[in-house]
Amino acid sequence: MIEVKDLTFSYTQKPFIVDMNFEVMEGEIFGFLGPSGAGKSTLQKILLGMLPNYKGVAKVGGVECKRCGSDFYRTIGVDFEFSTMYEKLSARENLEFFSSLYGIKGRSIDDLLLAVGLENDGDKRVSDFSKGMKSRLNFVKALVHDPQLLFLDEPTSGLDPTNSRMMKDLILEEKRRGKTILLTTHNMQDATELCGRVAFIVGGKLFALGSPGLLTFSHAHKHQL
Ligand code: ADP
Repeated sequence: MIEVKDLTFSYTQKPFIVDMNFEVMEGEIFGFLGPSGAGKSTLQKILLGMLPNYKGVAKVGGVECKRCGSDFYRTIGVDFEFSTMYEKLSARENLEFFSSLYGIKGRSIDDLLLAVGLENDGDKRVSDFSKGMKSRLNFVKALVHDPQLLFLDEPTSGLDPTNSRMMKDLILEEKRRGKTILLTTHNMQDATELCGRVAFIVGGKLFALGSPGLLTFSHAHKHQL
């Protein structure tokens, strides 16, 4: 689904991401794990076609990211940390609006609201929603056109334990539906619960790649914890 080979990228004169290599298979939840400033969002932006001046290969669904067109955006769903909803519109109006932009028959809005426990809140204005409700709504906004690939940026960030649990269950449900999911997190616990494999990124470099459990074990073993 995703192929990254000898990827190099710089914001300034100095290369930031250097010779990075990994692949993401169809149907897996793959995590970018690492401290703040490590380069996780930069990598996501490259894969979303937002930073086209990279060197090497960065392909999503066989298409080189720097050359992706509007068709590409119909096949992906993006849920970044901040709400992108129209506050004065209801939840249902927002979802209907974003769904109409794709020009295809997507998923049922009622089913999506039900899936995130907002079936009785669909006609309320988004400005009256709590942070957890907004996060869940933002998540299903990424699903309206039923994309095959989901990009999630820190999906549980700032959520209380109940909303965080709900969000993780929603992500796992999309995996069960066969979606490929790429998520960034600095939370090892989330990575362990959700991801089949993680790329551990530090200072723009791929420090380690593997299952979260194995990475924890080898780190503990190395440092004899
Ligand atoms: P993460 O998502 O892991 O927190 P980022 O990819 O957002 O890390 O940022 C990695 C580094 O790149 C940071 O040091 C940040 O300051 C720098 N950076 C991000 N965007 C830009 C930009 N547009 N211009 C210059 N430097 C940037």
